Amino acid sequence: MHVQDMIDRQTSTATGAMQLRTDEKFGNEQMMCVLSGYWSLVSFWEDVRKKPLEVQCADACNKEAHAKCVATWEKRWNSAVGWKRILGHNSADVLALLACLRDQLSGDDELREGVAPACRLAGLKALNDKLEHTREHLVDYFLAVYEGTAC
Ligand SMILES: [Zn+2]
Repeated sequence: MHVQDMIDRQTSTATGAMQLRTDEKFGNEQMMCVLSGYWSLVSFWEDVRKKPLEVQCADACNKEAHAKCVATWEKRWNSAVGWKRILGHNSADVLALLACLRDQLSGDDELREGVAPACRLAGLKALNDKLEHTREHLVDYFLAVYEGTAC
């Protein structure tokens, strides 16, 4: 919430550089936590964006056929992360981004055609699990160590 608020209050110079405007209710140490949270959430999303989740080979599939599942899954993932709906979210808004990616892939026809049904469901479940796991551990992204003291 504070990260989102900070994003909303930023302004840019004439050259396009962002001028960091902090909320006066935060001291430097708290601000460090908010900034470190922002940084680590953006880094997290960059990793997700670049590296599609692994899609496990379901029992109903087999090793040879699964190569096609993996290729299609990765192709559609790489395409979906560049779609307008995803790009409309701030990169630090990882819960919304993961949910959006899950929804986009759930409704993707090429994924439905190119991936064995059980493998597709396994991949979508893995993505949903990642979303839930991230939601549960969101606070971990804000644990900065500032001059030796954790916040
Ligand atoms: Zn498969």
